[in-house]
Amino acid sequence: MTTHTKIDHMHPKRERTLVLIKPDAIQRTLIGEVVQRYERLGLKLVGLKFVRPTKELVEKHYMNDPEWVSKTGAKFIAHATAHKLNIKFHDPVKMGEHILHRLSKYMTSGPVIAMVWQGLHAVAIVRKITGSTEPLSSDVGTIRGDFVLDSYEFSDAEDRSIRNLVHSSGSVDEARSEIDLWFSKDELIDYILIQEKVLYSAHMDGIFE
Ligand code: ADP
Ligand code: MG
Repeated sequence: MTTHTKIDHMHPKRERTLVLIKPDAIQRTLIGEVVQRYERLGLKLVGLKFVRPTKELVEKHYMNDPEWVSKTGAKFIAHATAHKLNIKFHDPVKMGEHILHRLSKYMTSGPVIAMVWQGLHAVAIVRKITGSTEPLSSDVGTIRGDFVLDSYEFSDAEDRSIRNLVHSSGSVDEARSEIDLWFSKDELIDYILIQEKVLYSAHMDGIFE
């Protein structure tokens, strides 16, 4: 029994990821749409709260990966070079720091909803439904592709963050540290969803009476 419980506790259906509904999505009254996109996948909501994030929290969130600043700066420089856009700073670290500064203004501009979703491949599947960073090039069917129309070109000209409605963790490790940052242990609830039997049981028996 104990061994079984231990194995079950480590079952991949327990993978968790952090989603933030950003201030623009709340102003666009898209909370229900966003929650529905993740909920209908079969994922289980294990944490939810309405927050007014501080600058410190936002900076901690993005600086959790010490390479985020240089990677994000480099990602933008590569995009801007390919699309012949104006480049404010050619040094990836400087550019990344500037993006972080814009982000912290954006993420503290209004209330945010923080959620933890749990399920098989939660991180990768949530990331897929979230869509890529820039709404202009996000795939159709994703949240960033379906509900908003921003671009690097436009946001950069206005010296502001890309408004892309949601955040979702980029990897299992990132998810772990982000969940620890936004939630205390007692704010996360372990419970069973009846549909898990259909999603995860080896056999679907006992349906016919
Ligand atoms: P993602 O949210 O897709 O994981 P990143 O981690 O690279 O993307 O960046 C975090 C957030 O910072 C993005 O969701 C976006 O809101 C903003 N952002 C990233 N790069 C830029 C940029 N070059 N200009 C403006 N905002 C940016
Ligand atoms: Mg990211």
